[in-house]
Amino acid sequence: MKLELSRVVQGCRLGRLTGLGNSGQHSLEVPGCLLYTRCATVPHLTQDTLHTLRDLPSVTQVSVDSLAEHLEVLEEFKEGVLKFAGLHDTVVFSSLHDSANSSPAGHVTNKTVSVWGSGGRIELTVARFMAIQAAIQPDCYQSMADGETWQAGTSRKRVRKAVDRTLAHLDECLVLHQKSQGLKRAEIFGVVEGGDILEERLRSARETAKRPVGGFVLDGFHSAAMDQDVRVQLIKAASAELPQEKPRLVLGVGRPDEVISCVEAGVDLFESFFPFQVTERGCALSFNFIIDPDPETAGSSTPTVLEFNGEMPAVKKLNSNGDENMTLYEMNLKDKRYQDDFRPLVEGCSCYCCKKHMRAYVHHLLVTNELLGGVLLMLHNMAHYLGFFKALREAITSDRLQDFKNRVLHCREGD
Ligand SMILES: [Zn+2]
Repeated sequence: MKLELSRVVQGCRLGRLTGLGNSGQHSLEVPGCLLYTRCATVPHLTQDTLHTLRDLPSVTQVSVDSLAEHLEVLEEFKEGVLKFAGLHDTVVFSSLHDSANSSPAGHVTNKTVSVWGSGGRIELTVARFMAIQAAIQPDCYQSMADGETWQAGTSRKRVRKAVDRTLAHLDECLVLHQKSQGLKRAEIFGVVEGGDILEERLRSARETAKRPVGGFVLDGFHSAAMDQDVRVQLIKAASAELPQEKPRLVLGVGRPDEVISCVEAGVDLFESFFPFQVTERGCALSFNFIIDPDPETAGSSTPTVLEFNGEMPAVKKLNSNGDENMTLYEMNLKDKRYQDDFRPLVEGCSCYCCKKHMRAYVHHLLVTNELLGGVLLMLHNMAHYLGFFKALREAITSDRLQDFKNRVLHCREGD
């Protein structure tokens, strides 16, 4: 695995991660995202439905918490999660937790961490954690980590302990990794901890970078953990301690404005649980990320302008009586005002849902609790989110990052 940077603009790293997968045939553009799954399946979608989407990420993320309870089955199967779940040709990245779930804190010890599956808590030692990885057979995986120090006000002593434990887990994982036949070609990502204490973040980054890891996971930066300014400062400082040629994946960050600020701080990779969360509350991503086209190509037939149709005030109003987690990047299709709205979710979107169906139909599916509602929303929300990342890369390429930010962040004005 190798990260080839083609340019760095205002801290944003544009490039391509190459040599991914078993025979090194896959690559992934950065900044970019991994494909989110639960139990190795993109929620609501079969592999065939999923592959109606263009520009899917070449890396699929699975998490230990949803697979740990199936360890015996995977071990008996012997051929890894890619074949077990019938995934098309993809690179598999295995992380510890599902970022769309919040797991209870207070269960880590010096020797163990805990994950929560459908059957409850599963306590993992490094040996068991590595046995699970060997059964999953990922191409890359996050090493075991004590990630419980993200809450503000965690004592310095506790944070220091988390950094020490995480380094100790990494060293133990590396020893077992070397001995494992099944993980021969896999790469470990070291985890940078340190809560909101700058010195500990720096120490964690420096020490992790000394180990033979393929990349870095930045843990404890998710939305609930800290505000954007603190996150950006800490990530910038930690990134400066990490080698340029290895990728950095941040966990738990998915909102478009937060993604942009992390990219500016030097992050390459993100998870894509955000469009799933939007889907689960019956909403559709509708924010605009298309910057005004070049005068040269303006007027061509390709529909590229995703306009809000003056809907912002209504979106804001919805916020107060709809789901409290709803962001300004989405519209709530359960709302009655869409029952006779015969437009697609987003004008010009090329996803299956927007090409074939209208808001009124999706509204109908949602109020009658039809499963197809989730399928169609998930397709659109993934398409929209992937389109956002593609547009972000294009904006960096063409030196139009500021225009892009203005466009995306515009809908948050007057928050
Ligand atoms: Zn769409």
